[in-house]
Amino acid sequence: MAKIDIGSMTLSELEEYIVSIGESRFRAKQIYTWLCRGVDFGDMSNLSKPLREKLAENCYSGIPHIEKKLVSRIDGTVKYLFGFPDGECVESVVMFYKHGTTICISSQVGCRMGCKFCASTIGGKVRDLTAGEMLGQVAAAQKDIGERIDGIVMMGIGEPLDNYNNAIKFLKLVTSPDGLNIGARHISLSTSGLVDKIAELEKENFQITLSISLHASNDERRSALMPVNRKWGVDELLSAVKHYFEATGRRVSIEYTLIAGQNDSEQDAKELGALLRKYFAKQDALHINLIPVNPVKESGFMQGDRRSVEKFQKTLADMGLTATVRRTLGPDINASCGQLRRKEST
Ligand code: SAH
Repeated sequence: MAKIDIGSMTLSELEEYIVSIGESRFRAKQIYTWLCRGVDFGDMSNLSKPLREKLAENCYSGIPHIEKKLVSRIDGTVKYLFGFPDGECVESVVMFYKHGTTICISSQVGCRMGCKFCASTIGGKVRDLTAGEMLGQVAAAQKDIGERIDGIVMMGIGEPLDNYNNAIKFLKLVTSPDGLNIGARHISLSTSGLVDKIAELEKENFQITLSISLHASNDERRSALMPVNRKWGVDELLSAVKHYFEATGRRVSIEYTLIAGQNDSEQDAKELGALLRKYFAKQDALHINLIPVNPVKESGFMQGDRRSVEKFQKTLADMGLTATVRRTLGPDINASCGQLRRKEST
């Protein structure tokens, strides 16, 4: 019999469940508080032993255990390989910034988008994560580091919009005052560009930041790097993004991974600038992030030198577009996602 997924429940859903198994309603709040702190049933010390056992037998918390933990000696970035009871693992990374602590979480075990530069997609998608398993990554990391996490980026393993219902449920739960209560403005969701789901997400009217993994400025190049582009081309994607911005008023992030010899020439920068200008007359709709590619053994893609990155940035600046070059955190622990899970499973 499948366990009851209480990790994905709202407080009132949990109350209803707890009452339905003959327990007092107030127990739900106690359990909820423990789950938010990353504590699993066995350690919920204000519950009776029989209740703890009953919960452990019948319910699923979604809280992962730490299978492996790496701490960067350079900047303190922490990378977790989190394990779930079915033996599957995902990665999460905690980054410490001056303005607060941010976690990068995974939304699926593996990924089926097939982006050529990405380690997460190599073995395909194994399964979706539940909302509770996404929450569980935040709660377990928070418990382990012993401090509050201020922000979340859904940029780990998986395509969040390919696990749409669970991702939406997660966003509702994690921003709830009953739960972890993380401000939507401190949450980013990154997508390879599932246009139909972007349109759906727009209707939710969350105050989150939508990040678009663009990585190329024409269909030929983007389709070669990102198979999803064969379904929704660059124009369709940017039209959806423009619509999203106009409907929500939220600035959108454009992610552009620079890969030497593939998409990082001056001509590429000009083409990117012209493309973005075509859809967004004003820069205030966009953040542009340039990310030197993280080499993944299987892909053979390399970073260009620093000068080529600066040149790319300057070409955009000359067109009136400010772009930020993403700082690499945790270079000594392979902090970008997908690589640790690969290493452990091969
Ligand atoms: N599927 C979602 C979220 C996960 S990937 C998406 O595609 O946006 C998170 C970000 O990391 C994306 O922008 C992705 O393109 C980027 N990324 C993946 N592999 C990378 C690599 N080897 N080097 C640099 N960025 C990479």
